[in-house]
Amino acid sequence: MTARILDGKAIANAIRQEISVEVSTFREKFSTSPKLVAVLVGEDPASQVYVRNKEIACQKSGIESDIRRLSATTTTEELLAALDALNADSSVHGILVQLPLPDIIDARRVLDRIDPKKDVDAFSPENVGLMFQGRPRFLPCTPHGVMQLLDRCEIAIQGKEVVVVGRSDIVGKPLVSLCLQKNGPRGPSNANATVTCCHSQTHELAQITRRADILLVAIGKPNWVTASMVKPGAVVVDIGINRLGDRLVGDVDFDSVSQVASAITPVPGGVGPLTIAMLLENTLRAAEQQLSSPSKL
Ligand code: NDP
Repeated sequence: MTARILDGKAIANAIRQEISVEVSTFREKFSTSPKLVAVLVGEDPASQVYVRNKEIACQKSGIESDIRRLSATTTTEELLAALDALNADSSVHGILVQLPLPDIIDARRVLDRIDPKKDVDAFSPENVGLMFQGRPRFLPCTPHGVMQLLDRCEIAIQGKEVVVVGRSDIVGKPLVSLCLQKNGPRGPSNANATVTCCHSQTHELAQITRRADILLVAIGKPNWVTASMVKPGAVVVDIGINRLGDRLVGDVDFDSVSQVASAITPVPGGVGPLTIAMLLENTLRAAEQQLSSPSKL
């Protein structure tokens, strides 16, 4: 079997096109643009690239964006003060702090300080809680991108056995939550799975991954999932992004697994582009919520 390739780049482009149209309508209605501010602390080269890519994506969709650059010696208190100013600025609808932060900064305090109504990464306890209860304000970008990808490729997860490998707060845990809900971002067929979550302490991991109809992998280890860990005909979504020399590879060994799976995401060109598309969506939704009913916010 040679797997169907799930083209995340094409799907992300379609979503970005839809968002551009909605942004135009928003601008006509409110005479302003949605605005995202990304806070970047220090000089980490990968973070610089990620933030720049987000800025370009915003510009292409008609979303205003700004990068607030702070030195690597910024203290937690200084960063909190910068966030307070952004929280209070009504022209800013979405705020994200690019991770990782330098070790001297208390990342938990910083992320908790972003106004949940402007928390377009959806990392705040309030937004995580709302998502877990099935009444999300925003969905975290990468897990939401996975759900969009599956549904737009006409892969229903309802009633299926989904195995998530990885339990980070950013990817693994929210994916578990989304797959488990009664209703998904794209309807009930985009939810209602039977979900198992694996991590570094899981015993006999391959026995569990081989049960999966849909295998979602986010562990940060290059080419780690091999064909022998995958049920023939399974759908495999590779969320990992790892640098191997001058190449980017996923957590799944694409060459071997694509011979067993029925469908698979490539890296690059799979989930990555969807993450940015969902950030644009959250920024637009944040702006709509803040301008439509400011008194309730
Ligand atoms: P983390 O390092 O925060 O989490 C990794 C998870 O994988 C942990 O839960 C860990 O278990 C688990 N794990 C590690 N090794 C094993 C193993 N051998 N067997 C089973 N489980 C294991 O990573 P992230 O979730 O932040 O990111 C995961 C990957 O996704 C990375 O490659 C990252 O670059 C990529 N990523 C891609 C994005 C995109 O836009 N496509 C966005 C965000 C991340 P334990 O909890 O026990 O330590």
